[in-house]
Order: sequence, then C-alpha cells, then structure tokens
Amino acid sequence: MSSGDPPAPRCAICRGVAAGPCARCRKLVCADCSELVEGAGTFAVCTRCAGKGTDLGYLPLLLWLGAIIVGLAAVAALLIVLRR
Ligand SMILES: [Zn+2]
Ligand SMILES: [Zn+2]
Repeated sequence: MSSGDPPAPRCAICRGVAAGPCARCRKLVCADCSELVEGAGTFAVCTRCAGKGTDLGYLPLLLWLGAIIVGLAAVAALLIVLRR
C-alpha cells in the first residue's frame, strides 16, 4: 500500500473496498454487504436489495398506515372547514 494507489471502488453501504456490483441496483458492495440470492442462477445482491426482496411485509403495512393517516387528516380538515 502506497500513497499513490488508485482509488479502489468503494462499497456503497459501509465504504469498505467493494467486491462487485449488486445484481439489482448495480451499486458496488463489499463481500460483507452482499448476500447470495438463489434464483435463475445465483446472484450477489446488496443487503438492502436482499432485505427488500424478503421483507415484503413492511411495505403494505406502511402504505396501510399512510392511507389511514391521510384519511384522518382529510376528515380533520373537513371538520375544521365545516365549523367555520
Ligand atoms: Zn460493505
Ligand atoms: Zn442492491
């Protein structure tokens, strides 16, 4: 290692030395921040994409909560307008 080393590709998650691109988002990730996913072949994806693929339970829940909050806000706004 000398001060004249070319800049090594950096992991998009932990800023360590990248090992290769994620198969989904194409960001460079290191070995620690990638997971092997079995599909039509074996792909290395970053832990974020791997999390998105497996934790589908979160998104509908968030959308559902968001819809309720927006609905309540709309009702509250309507009540405020009607009281005037
Ligand atoms: Zn990393
Ligand atoms: Zn990714």
